[in-house]
Amino acid sequence: MLTPEILLQKMEDLVMTDQDNRLDGQTRYYDPPLLAFAAANDPLFTEMKKEEIIGDIYRLPHQWLPEAVTVIVYFLPFSKEIRSSNYSSGLASPQWIHSRFKGEAFNNNMRSLVVSETEKAGGRSLAPLLDKNFITDMVNFTSNWSERHAAYIAGLGTFSLNRGLITAKGMAGRFGSVITSLPFPATPRPYNNNPFQYCPFLQDDSCGICIDRCPSIAISEKGKDKYTCHQYLFIQNPMKDFNENYNYPYSSCGKCQTKVPCEDRIP
Ligand code: SF4
Ligand code: SF4
Repeated sequence: MLTPEILLQKMEDLVMTDQDNRLDGQTRYYDPPLLAFAAANDPLFTEMKKEEIIGDIYRLPHQWLPEAVTVIVYFLPFSKEIRSSNYSSGLASPQWIHSRFKGEAFNNNMRSLVVSETEKAGGRSLAPLLDKNFITDMVNFTSNWSERHAAYIAGLGTFSLNRGLITAKGMAGRFGSVITSLPFPATPRPYNNNPFQYCPFLQDDSCGICIDRCPSIAISEKGKDKYTCHQYLFIQNPMKDFNENYNYPYSSCGKCQTKVPCEDRIP
C-alpha cells in the first residue's frame, strides 16, 4: 500500500540521487519537498473558475481525470546555494536561471515519479503540466491548471503581495501536482480559509521588502503587475546572451523571492 510516508520517502530519495537535480553534477537545485493532499471534490477547486481568481479557462480535477479522488501537491524548495546566489540586486544569477529551466526538468522527473508510484499502487494518475491539454493564455497570463492554487487548497501555504505562495519552507522553489484516483487523507488547511495569512504586508502593511527588490518596478502596494514582469522577462530579456547560449526561451529573475523574509520560511 502506498502511504503518504512511503511516497514522501521516494520523493526525497529522488531529490538526493537524481543527477538532474544537480547543477554541473554538484550543487542541488532543490532540497527535499513538502507534500500535501487535497480532495479532488474540494469545493475550493470550483471557486477557481471565478473570473476574479483564475476564470472559466480553469479545469477541475475531474475534467483532467474523470476518476479523480485526490490531488497530490508538493513544494520543492530551492537549496541555500541557489537562493543565495541570487541575493544581489539587478540581474538574476546564472545559477538561478539554470534552476528555473534545468531545475524544472528535474521537477518533471518528480511529477513522473509521483504518477508512476501511484499507478504502480493501482491508481490512474495524471500530471496536468505534463498533459497535452495543458494550455497557457499569455494574453491574460493565466492557464487551465495552477499548481500554486492547488497547493493553497491542499494546505501548503497562502498567497503573498508578489503573487507567490508562502509555505512552511518559504516561497523560493517550484510546485508540482498530480491528480490520481487513489484515496489519500486530505491535509488540513492551517490558515482558516484566509488566502493571505502568511504575508505580513497583506495583514497589517508591514514588510513590503519585495517591492524594492523588483528590478522592473512590477510590485507595488497593490500587488504584482503581471504584464510588467512578463515584459521584463520575455521582451527585455535582460540575460539574453546567456539565455541564448543555453537555449533558454526567456529570462528568469526571482529577486522578489530571494533575500526577503518569506524566502525560506513563514515570516
Ligand atoms: S517580501 Fe514581505 S511583503 Fe513581499 S511577499 Fe514576502 S512577506 Fe510578503
Ligand atoms: S520575478 Fe523579478 S521582475 Fe518579476 S515581479 Fe519578481 S522581482 Fe519583479
